[in-house]
Amino acid sequence: MPAIRNEPTTKGKRVRARVPVQCPTCDKVLNRKADLTRHMQTHDKGAGRFTCPYDDCQYATLQKSNLTTHLRTQ
Ligand SMILES: [Zn+2]
Ligand SMILES: [Zn+2]
Repeated sequence: MPAIRNEPTTKGKRVRARVPVQCPTCDKVLNRKADLTRHMQTHDKGAGRFTCPYDDCQYATLQKSNLTTHLRTQ
């Protein structure tokens, strides 16, 4: 079986791949590291605080069960 080559043939030109970064706190995936930095500030408001992973929602709670319920009702 021949090996399948998925590598790009352009040599010398480095394509800057957009590597998604994942928030270690809430597992939300962001497209850029700068977005993660900004996103992490939402976790700084309080230790152990759970925030809604949606950017357009400011919901935050100290209880994870509350967030789970919140996400279910969206
Ligand atoms: Zn997060
Ligand atoms: Zn929300």
